Amino acid sequence: SYGILRPMSRSLSTRAADILTNLGINPSEELPGVYDGQWRGSGELVSSVCPTTGEVLARVRTASPSEVQEALARTREAYVQFRNVPAPKRGEILRQIREALAAKRDYLGAMVSLEMGKIRTEGVGEVQEFIDICDYGVGLSRMMNGRVVASERPGHSILEVPNPLGVVAVLSAFNFPVAVYGWNLALSLAAGNATIWKPSPTTPLCSIATTKIIARVLEDNGIPGAVASLVTGGKEAGEAVVASPQAELVSFTGSERVGRIVGQNVASRFGKVILELGGNNASIIMPDADLSLAVPAVYFGAVGTAGQRCTSTRRLYLHKDIAESFLDRLKKFYSTVRVGDPLVKETLLGPLHTESACGIYEQAIQKLRSQSAEIITGGKRYQRDDLAGGNFVEPTIALPQSANPKDEIWSTEVFAPILNVAIFDELEQAIEWNNSVPQGLSSSLWTKDIRNVGKWIGPSGSDAGIVNVNVGTSGAEIGAAFGGNKSTGWGRESGGDAWKQYVRWSACTLNFSDAAPLAQGVDFST
Ligand code: NAD
Repeated sequence: SYGILRPMSRSLSTRAADILTNLGINPSEELPGVYDGQWRGSGELVSSVCPTTGEVLARVRTASPSEVQEALARTREAYVQFRNVPAPKRGEILRQIREALAAKRDYLGAMVSLEMGKIRTEGVGEVQEFIDICDYGVGLSRMMNGRVVASERPGHSILEVPNPLGVVAVLSAFNFPVAVYGWNLALSLAAGNATIWKPSPTTPLCSIATTKIIARVLEDNGIPGAVASLVTGGKEAGEAVVASPQAELVSFTGSERVGRIVGQNVASRFGKVILELGGNNASIIMPDADLSLAVPAVYFGAVGTAGQRCTSTRRLYLHKDIAESFLDRLKKFYSTVRVGDPLVKETLLGPLHTESACGIYEQAIQKLRSQSAEIITGGKRYQRDDLAGGNFVEPTIALPQSANPKDEIWSTEVFAPILNVAIFDELEQAIEWNNSVPQGLSSSLWTKDIRNVGKWIGPSGSDAGIVNVNVGTSGAEIGAAFGGNKSTGWGRESGGDAWKQYVRWSACTLNFSDAAPLAQGVDFST
């Protein structure tokens, strides 16, 4: 049970104050938005706005241009010190961070709901994901192994050695204001790096609350706070961090539009980059699918987080034999969705994150209508009095006239709860549609036939980074490497081999013989 919030009769403002205060944030003060061992901030003043009510939660002094540079320099100094801390000791710091996060899990999860707008169980789940990846990082800290390679020369040995990489800059999106940082921090810290975080300008409070929890652990252990620095701010702060040669690795999560710029800028200075960009994810439903599982999974994938996950289901391909019954069942779920305050336990649909996102939703609906798509359900902003002030839009199912994946309706990620549907005859057709968009993040097939499964996960199957069977597109566990292909950026984070990107690999040839032969038998005798 969550049990941390008082009865609903209290106003959201009072509850907001409760949440902030419990995270060590005084909402009536101007909050310093820079941390590199010390809290400060003298840049632009930004307001954190609650997407549910429109109220200002708190004001944050973001990083000035010189503060961004200072924080980068302090983070590098911290790296130079931290890289010599033995890896298992770094793991012990992570274990303590894990404990500190767990102690604040419900409040920090509520903070995510308050500031980003996702429902409470998802907000808390996001913090749980950070806790899980800390556990993973603790284990990794004793297993970030290199290897010994057979040398062709007598009396020689070759080692592949992973060492700490340097400074890792993490630029994150609004929709996972805690977990994306967690994925990066846990691996980066286990690897012996220092991290500098530039969060979304619209979720500064989540980043301040998270950084406070981590900073306390670092300081208690006598580790420089700049091992986990924070610079809040917008595009300019992001550009400065990306351009800085101080940051060996830039891990960027956000839109394809910005990712394209970031990727080019990091490449132009020969930095390393991880890109986790937009998704445009499809579910394919075969005639033999268990609809009692598939329908709720598509409902969660399309409506959950109000369609604001990179893995949200945006395209639904239905086999002609089950299309009508599937849509009937799906519509029933849509008609009963409980919309409202994301902090209320019963709510399933919260607001969009910003007012401008509502405009993007309305434009997309307008485009569908102008191209004679049938709007099966939804299609407008909620008009209810109790939702006034918030960014609430109806979850929408649309049946476009054309299924051509090259049409903008199909090829573009709209970050809102709009599900476009098309009907197919053969699995091959649906796989082709699945693969014909620029993005390649998540995909899902519903079938009981093993032959379909083989096609789907094989060479002619889905070209996405996440290829599920009887599991929806939305959400993932931390154990497997997470990321997408094509215009999603090819990045991989979290589990799998993702940690290998956060270290500097050295191939070390050691000669312990009395001769110095050249490789490939090259003779350069004098
Ligand atoms: P966004 O691209 O607008 O912003 C992301 C970050 O980039 C922010 O911190 C922003 O301040 C910063 N930024 C903006 N311009 C910059 C520039 N020129 N240089 C450097 N930094 C700059 O994204 P958003 O609207 O916050 O997030 C939604 C998007 O993120 C969606 O497309 C979603 O699919 C994607 N996303 C992807 C993943 C994934 O893992 N693939 C996860 C979450 C979100």
